[in-house]
Amino acid sequence: MQSLTKRSESVERKPMTWLERMYLPGIFKGMAITFSHMFTKTPTINYPEQTRPFSKVFRGLHVLNRDEEGRERCTACGLCAVACPAEAITMEAAEREPGEEKLYREEKYAAKYEVNMLRCIFCGLCEEACPKDAVYLSETFAPANYKRQGFIYGKEDLLIPNPLTDKEAYEKAKGEREKTTS
Ligand code: SF4
Ligand code: SF4
Repeated sequence: MQSLTKRSESVERKPMTWLERMYLPGIFKGMAITFSHMFTKTPTINYPEQTRPFSKVFRGLHVLNRDEEGRERCTACGLCAVACPAEAITMEAAEREPGEEKLYREEKYAAKYEVNMLRCIFCGLCEEACPKDAVYLSETFAPANYKRQGFIYGKEDLLIPNPLTDKEAYEKAKGEREKTTS
């Protein structure tokens, strides 16, 4: 039958030689390749037992920062939410009551602060927009979850531990991406 295009090429199938019919040269060649890889450096790692160090510019989960006295820095100005191109941040502002000066640094604070990690593209614009160094992206990432709701991080998930009551956890959460305090 005449082919419809000129692309097809007829393949000539030569009969196998005696050596080829033994398959041994092919087997030895394959084993030599396998053994040669046993002595080369493996490009993979045994995660989660082993982890790779993150890049210095890695941007992971958000952290809501506190000042050196353990007060929440966020003043619920909304600049981070406005800067966010993914509309991933929602918040509700509240007025600081007398006697709450040790809890909140400013007269206004975020009563609710949520980041939708499914929307977030980890661009870091919220961090750059914040005038109070109240939010920054840490070196951790969101763990896997079967439920969408599990990726909505509330204030209780984001707020850094209090440096006055749990210094070790505070330092650990702060990590290398520590920001200078204003
Ligand atoms: S990192 Fe970017 S996308 Fe994620 S919340 Fe901040 S501004 Fe929005
Ligand atoms: S995190 Fe910063 S930019 Fe966002 S509301 Fe709080 S103070 Fe404003």
